[in-house]
Amino acid sequence: MRPAFQIIERCRKLAAHTEEPGFITRTFLSDAMRGVHADVGTWMQHAGMTVSIDAVGNIRGYYAGVTPDAPRLIIGSHLDTVPRAGAFDGILGVVLGVELVELLIGRRFRFAIEVVGFSEEEGVRFGVPFIGSRALMGDIDDALGALVAEPIRAYGLDPSKIADARVIGPTIGYLEFHIEQGPVLESLKLSLGVVTAIAGQSRLDVRFEGHANHAGTTPMHLRRDALAGASEWISAVEREALAGRDLVATVGRIEARPGAGNVIAESAVMSLDVRHTEDAVRTGVVVRLLESAKQIATRRGLRVTSELRLDQPAAPLDAALTEVLAEAVRAGGHSDYRMPSGAGHDAMIMARQMPAAMLFLRSPGGISHHPDESVLAQDVAAALETGRHFLEQLERTHG
Ligand SMILES: [Zn+2]
Repeated sequence: MRPAFQIIERCRKLAAHTEEPGFITRTFLSDAMRGVHADVGTWMQHAGMTVSIDAVGNIRGYYAGVTPDAPRLIIGSHLDTVPRAGAFDGILGVVLGVELVELLIGRRFRFAIEVVGFSEEEGVRFGVPFIGSRALMGDIDDALGALVAEPIRAYGLDPSKIADARVIGPTIGYLEFHIEQGPVLESLKLSLGVVTAIAGQSRLDVRFEGHANHAGTTPMHLRRDALAGASEWISAVEREALAGRDLVATVGRIEARPGAGNVIAESAVMSLDVRHTEDAVRTGVVVRLLESAKQIATRRGLRVTSELRLDQPAAPLDAALTEVLAEAVRAGGHSDYRMPSGAGHDAMIMARQMPAAMLFLRSPGGISHHPDESVLAQDVAAALETGRHFLEQLERTHG
C-alpha cells in the first residue's frame, strides 16, 4: 500500500499550487502551474524519465524502451483544474503514471513509456477544452494558436513550436487513469471500472414563448403561460431519459421573463444536455424531445424554437487495448466492470489517432469538481496493480 499512499500524498502536495489561496484553482499556464511542473518534473526524473515541457505547457516524461526505435505507450491525464476543484481530477492519472514507471526500478520494456501531464483539459481559461491533448494530435488550428500565443510566451515557452508537440513515431496506444466523478462504482461497491466509450453530447437552447399578463385577473383557461409549458416539457425530458439505457438528459438552466411573481411568464429559455455512447440513440432522443416540445406548445397556444449549441460525437475506446486493460484488472483479482464515461476526457482526443483505453477509480460519495473530492488508497493500489499487469501484457504481445 505504500506506493498508493505516496500517490495520494503527491496529489495533495500538488493541490498546494493554486491561484486562489484556500482552494485548488489552477488554469492553463497560470503561475500556479510552475510549481506543479517543478514537482512532477522532479518525480519523473527520480523515476528515470527524461523530462521536457512542450510549447503548450504539457509536461512529458520519457522512459526509453530497450531499443531507441521502440514504439511508445502514452500514459496521461491533465494537471489543470476547474475553479475550487478537488485534488484528484486529472492529477491522479499523471501521478499514478509516474509511480508506475518508478516501480519498474530501471527495468526496460520492448516499448517506451511517455507519461504526459496535460496543461489544459477543463477549458476554464479560454472556454476551449483539451488544448493539451489536441497539441499532441497536431490539432491546434491558427485561430486557437493565436488565442494561446501570449500566455505561452508569458509562461516562458515558444508558441512557434506548437507543431513540435505533436506525437511522431510509432505508438502502441494511450492509457488514462481517472476518477469516475460519479456514483456508479461506489453504488456497486467496486474499486475500478473499465471505460467502454466516452459519451457523445448534444446541447441545445429551447425557448417557449407565450403571453405575459396579470397573475390576478387572467383566468387559468385564458392563459398562454410559457413557464408552465416549459415545466411540462422538463418532466417529459426526465421521463424520456429514465426509459433509456445509459442515457442521461438534463435541463440545468431556465430563465423566465419578465420574471415577476405577479406576472404570467412570457418566455422561458432552457438548456438541454443529452448524452449517450451511441450517436444514433442520442440524436434520436433529441428529435423526440423537440417533437414533444412542439406538441406541448401547440396544446397550450405557445411557440417553441430551439438552437443547437453542441453536437459532439461519441468516442469509442479501442476494443483490443480495452480487452488488455480488462484482463489486467482481472489479473489483480478485481471485477472488470464495463461502463461508459458521461464526461469528456483527454482519452477522447487521443482516441482519434491511436488506440486508447481508460480506467476509472471509484469516487467516494460520487463527489468531483469540489474540494471534498477524494480517492480510497485501496482503489489506488488496485489501479496501480492493474497498470503493472497492463505493462506486462503489452510486453508479451509487443515483443
Ligand atoms: Zn478530469
